[in-house]
Amino acid sequence: KEVARKIVKSTPLEITATKIMAIADYPETVSKVKDLVDGIGLLRMEFLVLRNRKHPRWYLENNKLDEFTNMLVERLEEILRIMYPKPVIVRTLDMRTDEYRNLEGGEREPKEANPMIGWHGIRRDLDQEQLFRAQVRAFKILVKERGLNNLWVMLPFVISWEEVYRAKEIIKSEGLIPGKDIKFGIMVETPAAALTIEDIIKNVGIDFISFGTNDLTQLTLGVDRNNEMVQKLMDEGHPAVVKLISRVIKICKKHGVYTSLCGQAGSRPDYAELLVKLGIDSISVNVDAVELVRETVTRMEKKLLLDKIRKL
Ligand code: PEP
Ligand code: MG
Repeated sequence: KEVARKIVKSTPLEITATKIMAIADYPETVSKVKDLVDGIGLLRMEFLVLRNRKHPRWYLENNKLDEFTNMLVERLEEILRIMYPKPVIVRTLDMRTDEYRNLEGGEREPKEANPMIGWHGIRRDLDQEQLFRAQVRAFKILVKERGLNNLWVMLPFVISWEEVYRAKEIIKSEGLIPGKDIKFGIMVETPAAALTIEDIIKNVGIDFISFGTNDLTQLTLGVDRNNEMVQKLMDEGHPAVVKLISRVIKICKKHGVYTSLCGQAGSRPDYAELLVKLGIDSISVNVDAVELVRETVTRMEKKLLLDKIRKL
């Protein structure tokens, strides 16, 4: 790894057709990586909450949703400004009930037998509509008052077009127009979203999708990503997962929907090669994998181009 890093460091940063984005949540990480990437491909809003030490539940139960909105504006503004005009894909809250109990107010979270497939993602955002609206109001302030139009908004753990439709209606009702004021997209991290992507595109309209290979693999293979006993089966390269990804990319291309990936697999050079072959638009990687993946993508794109030229 060290040798590879040295070789990579000695080559100049090359512009790739496939965009390389970073997975980053905090301003200090974003500052470090901003010149090396084409954008931030995944900013998990839960991490902003984590740093703030108060569970969203606390704001909701104490009638302090405006404080929640202001906290989000403050923290997101810093990151959007550092990256401007490069895009920052912000994912709406994807809080699992087992994860943030130690935050103030978190102790009142319900107990679930299977939190991984429980109350989180867009289903929870829609159940707790006031909390979702508070997030949307933060986005509106950032775009309309602060001029930070590099904000892209992404919904997690989608399983149906109806969920995306409802979320889009709520966003519109808060005075923010998806597709115009913000790029609006979804995570494809459930087999349901992958298999019904065309319905989502046709019935609702989205600007982009991002594959969450962590959950997509877990749910397609029936392998608990937190269970050490089955870790060896957690394979993002499994033909079933790759078939879903390939199919979704084809459908998205047909409809002009931008495709990206933000699961851990994107940080693996072999997986990045596969994604370039499948024609993905962007790959999000961990900060320490940016250079290696950029180099791999550059090589792969050159190879594909040369193969094509040779066939002319
Ligand atoms: C994923 O599922 O691949 C993903 C990026 O989301 P998270 O890891 O936050 O579940
Ligand atoms: Mg996920």
